[in-house]
Amino acid sequence: MPVVDVDGLTFTYASGTSPAVRDLSFRIDRGEIFGFLGPSGAGKSTTQKVLIGLLRGYRGVVSVLGRDLAAWGAEYYEEIGVSFELPNHYLRLTGLENLGYFRALYRGETRRPEALLEMVGLAGDGERLVAEYSKGMKTRLGVARALLNDPQLIFLDEPTVGLDPASGRGVRRLVRELKQAGRTVFLTTHDMTVADELCDRVAFIVDGEIRVVDSPRDLKLAHGARTVAVEYDLDGSPGRREFPLDGLGDDADFITLLREATVRTVHTQEATLEDVFLRVTGHTLQ
Ligand code: ADP
Ligand code: MG
Repeated sequence: MPVVDVDGLTFTYASGTSPAVRDLSFRIDRGEIFGFLGPSGAGKSTTQKVLIGLLRGYRGVVSVLGRDLAAWGAEYYEEIGVSFELPNHYLRLTGLENLGYFRALYRGETRRPEALLEMVGLAGDGERLVAEYSKGMKTRLGVARALLNDPQLIFLDEPTVGLDPASGRGVRRLVRELKQAGRTVFLTTHDMTVADELCDRVAFIVDGEIRVVDSPRDLKLAHGARTVAVEYDLDGSPGRREFPLDGLGDDADFITLLREATVRTVHTQEATLEDVFLRVTGHTLQ
């Protein structure tokens, strides 16, 4: 049974003339990191807000953890964890006080705030006011907060936005650890490296519609050039040639080049996920 099962989800904001998301259908299995990849305004945050019960009045069928979303009450929030794109912390409280406040809202067992701060690289900042935190630190505090109740299903909206490279790596490692611990993660991002590195499967979303759902690897293989590029030195001058992967073992030019030249690099020409996104959707991620 899937952890999240969405069939024909359409949502229109009260102030909107057209739907922000349209006829979305996807399933997320237990233990999967499922990515929503798309440019700004595509409908990623809207989808997350529907799935966490913040936006009501959608059309379609949404079932989470084996129950229709509409049938869940407040106990839903004991089961899930959420980090928002724009974290809503109490700025006049410290990081630890924020976690302590939200921790007290749970009925079930919760994790130690100190340990969570450590996990997101904020161990030394727990006593500081959140007003003094950078945007990236607020994002990381939001990720820590999402894990307070040790949820089985975690929603992360742009968890790496505004992070410096080291903090970004830390959050990506944390997401992988959640998967290793058997948790299910719904992750939205417009960063193709994050989607590529973390997601078991990714949905490309543009203008409120899903264009394709597949693993990053299969998407890249399906849309890659299927050639190999060789950089070499021959008779004292550098050169570069591409050869088709199909029939490579019988390609006389390729074999001669390998024998006679000094090979510097050999690379298959896989598409990046961003290339694939452009090819499939006609849109860039920016
Ligand atoms: P993303 O997270 O992919 O950047 P959003 O889900 O935030 O996209 O937005 C999808 C669309 O819905 C955009 O056109 C956006 O302008 C619109 N939208 C988002 N929030 C609201 C809102 N509160 N009221 C009206 N329209 C909104
Ligand atoms: Mg968003």
